[in-house]
Amino acid sequence: MSLIVQKFGGSSVSDAEGIKRVAKRVVETQSAGNQVVVVVSAMGDTTDDLLDLAGQLTAAAPAREMDMLLSSGERISMALLAMAITELGASAESFTGSQAGMITDAFHGKARIIDVSPHRIRTAIDKGEIAIVAGFQGMSRESNDITTLGRGGSDTTAVALAAELAADVCEIYTDVDGVYTADPRVAPNAQKIDRISSAEMLEMAASGAKILHLRCVEYARRFGVPLHVRSSFSQHEGTWVLPDPDDKITIQEGEPLEQPIISGVAHDRSEAKVTVVGVPDIPGKAAEIFGIVAGANSNIDMIVQNVSTQGSGKTDISFTLPIIDGKEAIDALNAAKAQVGFDSIDYNEQIGKLSLIGAGMRSNPGVSYRFFQALHEAGVNIDMISTSEIRISVVTDAKLLDTAVRAVHGAFGLDGEAEATVYGGTGR
Ligand code: ADP
Ligand code: ASP
Ligand code: MG
Repeated sequence: MSLIVQKFGGSSVSDAEGIKRVAKRVVETQSAGNQVVVVVSAMGDTTDDLLDLAGQLTAAAPAREMDMLLSSGERISMALLAMAITELGASAESFTGSQAGMITDAFHGKARIIDVSPHRIRTAIDKGEIAIVAGFQGMSRESNDITTLGRGGSDTTAVALAAELAADVCEIYTDVDGVYTADPRVAPNAQKIDRISSAEMLEMAASGAKILHLRCVEYARRFGVPLHVRSSFSQHEGTWVLPDPDDKITIQEGEPLEQPIISGVAHDRSEAKVTVVGVPDIPGKAAEIFGIVAGANSNIDMIVQNVSTQGSGKTDISFTLPIIDGKEAIDALNAAKAQVGFDSIDYNEQIGKLSLIGAGMRSNPGVSYRFFQALHEAGVNIDMISTSEIRISVVTDAKLLDTAVRAVHGAFGLDGEAEATVYGGTGR
């Protein structure tokens, strides 16, 4: 008997029809002779709607209350799905994150899992029940408060449970047929990737491809959980993210021996650019600035320091960080303005990040040229650049991001013949 963890995203359970469809699929999986643990997200755009609602009341919601609010979305789905499954004659029980033993640290809104003790889940499935767990949430042992794992965090709940329960596979059900060479909502001719190494998937997720939560990919890799990303609206085989520690993909018959140079293009609109203008060009100032930003618990991504204008003794330092961390970081920097000695801060949310990812690019010298040429031909100006062994990223004007994605995707021959199917969701 296999143990399968199935995670259904918001678009898969957006209404009663969707919940019934998911219930049927779950019951079929159990009837085929498997033990099933289900993780659900909040219905449709519920999380965004709850955030909007809170925003109408306050610009500074207490983090604890925000987590109480947001965790309720997943609880609605879990109870409704349990009802729909019971209606089909199977037996199901739903559990909140804390009931499922998801113990986290106390950082509201971006809590990290520190322990998983799914005793109740194990008992339920051993009794022949289908266990349904609310995604994206846990409880801090320190504060005994409910926490959430950050946007998209239900994927990570699913993998954490799969790892702890030693599941045979963790299936991530969503509104597209798998991981594509780019977001099919932006590049309609993107192609489905059948199998991807976890190293490449990590770079895609870290570069903003929200098909999988970054921490879910890290967790799956660390604990060797096979991930299968697929659509809940079709029966098609999806994308396998291979957890092999050596990242060696076993070549199937008929497959080319050399891996493709590029696996895909990812984009991200969730970051802002901060420029600290007129920083004294002396040793220690960058450390001071990033120390202040780290103190505000912000995740820095790209960093650029401009050459100082001759004779001025001053330079500008730019970096990107998640928009949700922007206010805290700016406040912290402004509070230290006199101490650091900079002139002003420039803050811009109208930026987009585009990344080209592929493990084959490290041995292919023409990649950068082709990448920048494609952006040039599409009339896209570049603001910042950063690279890793298997990735090139640039920051551009947000308005040009979609054009840039399509241009780069096409330039690397990734466009397929047919258009990808997007089954549901609003892309929000
Ligand atoms: P869920 O609610 O199921 O978690 P998400 O909206 O979080 O779904 O993620 C699925 C969406 O991710 C897709 O609808 C698609 O628009 C987007 N996406 C971004 N990059 C990719 C990619 N490379 N492949 C497939 N989908 C992608
Ligand atoms: N409902 C949460 C969100 O929208 C978590 C998730 O869907 O994974 O971010
Ligand atoms: Mg998601």
